[in-house]
Amino acid sequence: MGLLAVGTPLQWEDSLQYLEKVKYNGVTQLLKIMKESDKVKNKPFLWGDELEYILIDNKNNKLTVNNDDILIELNTELESECKKNDLVYHPEYGSYMIEATPYFPYSHKDIESYVSPEANMILRKKFINEKYMYQRDLYLLQMTNYPRLGCKNFIGDYDCSGEYISPAKKNIFSQSLFLPDEITNKHPRFPTLTGNIRKRRNRKVNLQIPMFKDIKTPSFDDTVYDREWFDMDVKFIKEDPTAQGASDDLKSYKLRPNHIYIDAMGFGMGACCLQTTYQAPDLENARYLYDSLMNFTSVLLSISANSPFWKGFVSDWDCRWEVISSMVDCRTGFEENTNIHDNNYGYNLSADNTGLLSSPMKRIKKSRYSKVDVYLGCNKIPKDLSQLNDVEVVLNEEVFDRVTKELNGDENLARHFAHLFIRDPIVIFEENVDDVDDNMDHFENINSTNWQSLRFKIPHKISEGDAPEPGFRVEFRPLEIQLTDFANAAFSFLLNIIVQFMLSPKTNINFYIEMSKVWQNFDQSIERNSILKDKFHWVEKFKTFDECPSVVNKTCKMSIDQIMHNEDSGILTTLVNQQLRALNFIAENETWEDLRKDKDNTKERLYYYLRIISDRSKGVLPTEAKWQRDYVLSHPEYAKDSKVTELISSDLINLTKKVYSYSPESDEEKKWYFKLFGEEIGEYLINHKL
Ligand code: ADP
Ligand code: MG
Ligand code: MG
Ligand code: MG
Repeated sequence: MGLLAVGTPLQWEDSLQYLEKVKYNGVTQLLKIMKESDKVKNKPFLWGDELEYILIDNKNNKLTVNNDDILIELNTELESECKKNDLVYHPEYGSYMIEATPYFPYSHKDIESYVSPEANMILRKKFINEKYMYQRDLYLLQMTNYPRLGCKNFIGDYDCSGEYISPAKKNIFSQSLFLPDEITNKHPRFPTLTGNIRKRRNRKVNLQIPMFKDIKTPSFDDTVYDREWFDMDVKFIKEDPTAQGASDDLKSYKLRPNHIYIDAMGFGMGACCLQTTYQAPDLENARYLYDSLMNFTSVLLSISANSPFWKGFVSDWDCRWEVISSMVDCRTGFEENTNIHDNNYGYNLSADNTGLLSSPMKRIKKSRYSKVDVYLGCNKIPKDLSQLNDVEVVLNEEVFDRVTKELNGDENLARHFAHLFIRDPIVIFEENVDDVDDNMDHFENINSTNWQSLRFKIPHKISEGDAPEPGFRVEFRPLEIQLTDFANAAFSFLLNIIVQFMLSPKTNINFYIEMSKVWQNFDQSIERNSILKDKFHWVEKFKTFDECPSVVNKTCKMSIDQIMHNEDSGILTTLVNQQLRALNFIAENETWEDLRKDKDNTKERLYYYLRIISDRSKGVLPTEAKWQRDYVLSHPEYAKDSKVTELISSDLINLTKKVYSYSPESDEEKKWYFKLFGEEIGEYLINHKL
């Protein structure tokens, strides 16, 4: 989330008249930059990470929504102090969330600089702890999702003890049954975004997540209740194939057996992630990097899995992705192609369910928050990408024609942007609708609300070489935040090495596979234990473009272990080893495992970064999702009913605090600490705190 605009965000009804204008102006801004894109060159390799935290009351481990003054102060009175410490704190969707990044992107001159991202991550928390957390007895939780988000009593400083939402405090923006509007950032952009998505789709956002089934799991989500406050309220019907009649009612919603019902943007955008952004030297390299990273998204997401609990239930998913995707899905019934009377999995809809929008509309396969849709292509491969882009992707034809024409017939780039522009701007600020010059607001209004697994970031100003303006960048977005900065640094390090390898002028590896396979991989990566259970499409043998008979690689299905460790296309065994050699971190005849031999402390740490990911992919160590699930299922209070009670949730959070500081004390804490890290890494972390 970048800086927040000042101004008056328009309600959906009022923004309808400006939708096309904002899109047109957005493309104008885009073209102005892209026409001069060849002047953006020789940009240095820079990168940075983003971490998102959940603010909780340290005493009772409940969310706090009334401490958002902290973020304001960090960006005003304390801004220069933050800068001096190389820190920036950003607002996020939740009023209980804080995002933090380094102030200056990272670059690498020496080997020590590969450990400094972890040091910066630690400082981000230390700084805020010393300024606020200790004084107010708050804690910054590093969990992907708060386990009891949306349950009774989940907030410490707001009364939600009675019915989930009390009639006295109607939540007008989300109209959720479970999340009060108070959990949403107070900046008007966020509540407006919430309300406008609901209004555009003409029904509430909704998703039913499969429960993890245990012997006393309730047959239906027993936290759902009927309410009649808003037009969009529905009557809940328990799905029963033998029942007749009841589901004819258009104002009804079918609950599926053994599924968790959620209904608000906060369930998705209130979850936390680890994102990393990389600068490429120029446009062509950025295109190649974006395309090459495509199939790494699912594999690394699966290893980073860390969100098994939703609304107080143990779920059968390990990752947040599909949840956010549904919770910000702005498609109308028509676009979603649920214009049949009964879509079986939720809302009944009338055939012409188009919200406030008038036709023509197109069927759109996915939410605006979803996996990547099209390859960009680059100068290493032929222009015809039809074999690679083998999935149905809807385009904004007008944008496609305009961009193709203005960018010398570059249809591949035009297709990418034309796909982004099938979405409407959801929040428009009245004051700047007509501003086009000297900023990229309208373009970013569309680009930065296409929340895809990778984001292609384009420069806002033309610049060359070391000039401070960012050039073309690629953001890697699927990873779940990890419980420790060590693990966050581990994923960041691995990706950094992969990206450096891809951008190295000496390597010329073809990573292209069919987009349909990328999609299949991504869909399965969110499921419980996909890391050990599933096989993923992966290139059989990494080859240079010259060695490949066709741009489409031959793939086979591999376990994550094989993907990390196979001899011909393993991430660690090929890419990482080669790049570590190129950096002179290991000798030509050595492998990443030899990093540990060196008495140099830095190399040893880099070794353990890779080791934890390697061990997880082999199943030697659990993912954090598995570890959390195992903890809950073996808690003495767990009643085999798939529920995370207040006590269990609080105990789990207390345990994660000890894990974060690598300081387990009791036998029980030690048991769980070593389950997560194993003996060797666990001991190493206790003895080598940064
Ligand atoms: P967003 O939320 O839109 O992704 P943020 O500003 O929160 O943007 O995060 C951007 C990330 O990109 C940060 O980690 C930052 O350090 C990094 N970054 C900033 N400038 C560059 C650059 N020129 N090249 C690569 N990364 C950069
Ligand atoms: Mg963020
Ligand atoms: Mg950000
Ligand atoms: Mg980001």
